[in-house]
Amino acid sequence: MKVSLASALGTCFGVKDAINMALEPQFKDDLTIVGQLVHNRQVNEALKKNGISLVKGTDQLDEVKTKKVMITAHGAAEKMKSQLTEAGFVVFDASCPLVMRVHSQIKSMVEKDYFPVVIGQEDHVEVKGIVGDLQEYIVVGDEQDFEKLRATGKRKLGIVSQTTQQVEKVENLVKKIRELDCVDEVAFVNTVCQPTRDRQVAVRELADQVDLMIVIGGYNSSNTKKLVAVCEEKHVEAHHIEESSQLDRQWFSGKQHVGITAGTSTPEWVINEVHTAILKIAQEMDSMERPVAAS
Ligand code: SF4
Repeated sequence: MKVSLASALGTCFGVKDAINMALEPQFKDDLTIVGQLVHNRQVNEALKKNGISLVKGTDQLDEVKTKKVMITAHGAAEKMKSQLTEAGFVVFDASCPLVMRVHSQIKSMVEKDYFPVVIGQEDHVEVKGIVGDLQEYIVVGDEQDFEKLRATGKRKLGIVSQTTQQVEKVENLVKKIRELDCVDEVAFVNTVCQPTRDRQVAVRELADQVDLMIVIGGYNSSNTKKLVAVCEEKHVEAHHIEESSQLDRQWFSGKQHVGITAGTSTPEWVINEVHTAILKIAQEMDSMERPVAAS
């Protein structure tokens, strides 16, 4: 059984920088991260071990016991940052620059009189940050949301996307929005970030070669789920796991080539652990299938 890693996988620079910032000695035992720094359980557990506290959002500020708070790599609205400062916290910002690019793109579209539309997942922390300072907006997750768009009566739209969306899905939705009879003009900037694109291209290429794909990442990680979706589109059996203990030997039975990929919030050590476990399974399966030499 052959085992291959996708040519681009795992933690992106935005997540690495945010984790490194949170682990700086100045924050030990004196930092609360507002929202999950990354959508990865193992990373969040490692941060907690370093004395760093986590709260889900600004609605839990009464639980914060530290002076320093950190905005996550997913970014936040200016309104939320002011709320934290006004509450007396010292705010550190680990927002990824590529998320901040989405904030500035939508802001500049609104200034040019375009009605803001975000393609993404409405309840995702990144999307909440993107729309948090806007007076009015629409989040489009799929074609069913076109009715919401129609109901606004706005004919001049400025569209951006959540950074971790699937590129083809975003482009397809924008194409369909352009075709709507209720829309006159569309300005579109595809803000799916480069590390997300690289991982989607790499999983697509690898999916053409394998008969099983193991996708590693948090169950709540948007971009990890998109990697699974790419495999499903290609009709390749894919299993989404968070750690090596979830590997099921039965998945590997009869397989010739296994691929491994991981979302942008999956740390290298988790990927290495899963890779090693799969190599072990492959070795055991190969030795079981090898014919016994005649004596
Ligand atoms: S997935 Fe993209 S936008 Fe999000 S932290 Fe990583 S590089 Fe930044």
